[in-house]
Amino acid sequence: MTLTLLPLGTGNAFSAERHSCCNALVHDEDGARAVLLIDCPHPLRKVLRDAAQVQGFALDIADVTACALTHLHADHASGVEGFLWFSRFVLGTKGTLALHDDVRARLWDGHLAGGMEQLLGEDGTTTHLTLDDVAACVRLTEQAPVRLGPFSVELRRTRHHIPTFALRVRAGGASVAFSADTAFDPSLIAWLLEADLAVHEAGHGYGHTPLEALAALPEADRAHMRLTHLGDEVDRAALPIAPLEEGRAIVVDELKGKGAPRATVQHEQR
Ligand SMILES: [Zn+2]
Repeated sequence: MTLTLLPLGTGNAFSAERHSCCNALVHDEDGARAVLLIDCPHPLRKVLRDAAQVQGFALDIADVTACALTHLHADHASGVEGFLWFSRFVLGTKGTLALHDDVRARLWDGHLAGGMEQLLGEDGTTTHLTLDDVAACVRLTEQAPVRLGPFSVELRRTRHHIPTFALRVRAGGASVAFSADTAFDPSLIAWLLEADLAVHEAGHGYGHTPLEALAALPEADRAHMRLTHLGDEVDRAALPIAPLEEGRAIVVDELKGKGAPRATVQHEQR
């Protein structure tokens, strides 16, 4: 059993150099692979392909067990339409979306319906679609973990402009936490740090966490974290916390119980 974090996109919403913020958790056991996407930017198939190629394997929408959506800002959710259409027309199935009710509340009418609510048939008739026609939605809550294949997913609301949820994902005894987009929140960081690895955003302006706040965290906490959602202007070699790099996988099981996570950076695979 292996749980691997594969960073797919590490840029912020305005990045010209990197894909938008997105990760994949890959669980391998006895030849069976499950993949949980954490957010879903466009163009998803290229985002998956670019990261997987660095690792020397193939990864496509057909491999995705479910996509967990933290919130509806486009840099995190602009690929949902493509994910669902590809699932319907190429794979002949419904893509699985895992999300809190407050994210789902605007997903269709405020995000997807404009491009997905109608289909024109060859006979000229129009079919009207709903979210449940094109997606298999799994409800995530803050009250209890939810099972998605081998993954157990916990939720915690963050401080952001629109309903947004951090995630803690466990599989086979290893765990990774994702801050999603959030203003600086020490109680959230403590929750994230209970996982074997905590992935945290950094950004400018209200609703995001300034690097200065993260730099002031204790060294042991910073060693337990990786950064994502970074602007192109950031000097990645001078960050107070190591950044995720697209396609550079981290075997999470190797971080379990190490106590001094900084020493585990060498376990990250190219
Ligand atoms: Zn956001």
